Amino acid sequence: MKAILPGTSASGQQTTLGVMGGGQLGRMFVHAAQAMGYFTAVLDPDPASPAGLVSHFHIQTGYMDEQGLAQMMQRCAAITTEFENVPAPALRTLGVQRLVAPRADAVAVAQDRALEKAHFVRCGVPCAPYAVIASAEQLRAVRDALLPGILKTARLGYDGKGQIRVNSRAELTSAWAQLKSVPCVLEQMLPLANECSVIVARGADGTVVNFPPQLNLHRDGILAVTQVFEGNLPATLTQKAVDAAVAIATGLDYIGVLCVEFFILQAGSSAARELGALVVNEIAPRPHNSGHYTLDACDQSQFDLQVRTLANLPLVQPRQHSPAIMLNLLGDLWLRSSDTALTPPWSEVLALPGTTLQLYGKLEARPGRKMGHLNITGAQLAQVRGTALRAADLLGIAPF
Ligand code: ATP
Ligand code: MG
Repeated sequence: MKAILPGTSASGQQTTLGVMGGGQLGRMFVHAAQAMGYFTAVLDPDPASPAGLVSHFHIQTGYMDEQGLAQMMQRCAAITTEFENVPAPALRTLGVQRLVAPRADAVAVAQDRALEKAHFVRCGVPCAPYAVIASAEQLRAVRDALLPGILKTARLGYDGKGQIRVNSRAELTSAWAQLKSVPCVLEQMLPLANECSVIVARGADGTVVNFPPQLNLHRDGILAVTQVFEGNLPATLTQKAVDAAVAIATGLDYIGVLCVEFFILQAGSSAARELGALVVNEIAPRPHNSGHYTLDACDQSQFDLQVRTLANLPLVQPRQHSPAIMLNLLGDLWLRSSDTALTPPWSEVLALPGTTLQLYGKLEARPGRKMGHLNITGAQLAQVRGTALRAADLLGIAPF
């Protein structure tokens, strides 16, 4: 397959790369593609979408709109996705005429927890014991060993939405009803010591490169802090996590950037004895919030690698040149004192050495809404940690 080179083509056309979805991940893809000399097109119905605001072209239609898809195909040499819930059929339509990465069938697996879990099993990578619940019969057949558990809708969940924790069969029954009896997956509740993720990029020729595993702290089901430094995980787990992520990507014949999220189980727990210390949670068929540190701490960011895999440019192993901590900036920070919006103390935060602020251009702050992130880098981990804690304190983020 030929590379789609940046700049002007022989016919005098600007080479354009497209992205389905206009959220912050699309925005950072657009930044990376433009920095390399591509034009960009974004399809997102929202006129104020973060990526649409910074793209050369913004096609404002629904994801399945025929005209919108036709415009994307007309404009773009290749098209990627940034939003898990862009319907796979839209990618399938685009894929008939244009290079689409990741492909629709790989995205379809990531969009459905039941298919996703079946893929983990196929790859021989341990995941939480689970049962698919799509009928009253399957509900009745659930093994007691899966309780207490978490009932998750098979499709369309994010940031802990579409999930209910259940302790008993009675709670499970009412939780399924509360989720409108849509197809769900019940997972055994596991004793977590930590969570981590690995981001890989896989090219059309099968080359796979990876970032080091990220140590992730979630609060209320939403990523709060990511820490990446030498020794953030025991070496054996680091290797296991990378191997599992590569196996999952290769098993999907995946092209693009893929994030694999893992649970690290409490040492000595019966779950850890049964499943091993590392259990895969889920995959995201795109760059991931836990990889935003790569923008400032690595020689290639996850978005650079998304551009490279999409355009079939060479993939080389990225190198992290600095320990890094990322703080997610949720809408709550703007709503701290009362219900009147206030501006977080950016001047104080940016006075701290090694801080890089990125805001996504969202007009309205809402609780739990991802408004931006702050990366902290530096020569020494102790200094990075000190700065991150100071910044968190200034912003009203609880210490970690
Ligand atoms: P994302 O925004 O990452 O897509 P999501 O809505 O898909 O989130 P999950 O990743 O499935 O949700 O779960 C959110 C968080 O809930 C996890 O990061 C973890 O902290 C906790 N969690 C989920 N499943 C389990 C489990 N089986 N056992 C223990 N904790 C769990
Ligand atoms: Mg998750």
